[in-house]
Amino acid sequence: MPLNAAWHHAHPMPERATLDQRVRWHLEHAEACGCRPLPKSIVAELERRKKAEADAASRD
Ligand SMILES: [Zn+2]
Repeated sequence: MPLNAAWHHAHPMPERATLDQRVRWHLEHAEACGCRPLPKSIVAELERRKKAEADAASRD
């Protein structure tokens, strides 16, 4: 997918973005634009969250 310049213009990455902001930015970015894949650090964080959710669900 080519660069979606309009989306990038409307969604600048915040300066000193928190991990949470970066995760959200990259998820929105992946939907809107395919200029680069999700960075490994973001994929790892999504995996970590998925696992934490599964752990929380199996607790009780
Ligand atoms: Zn892009």
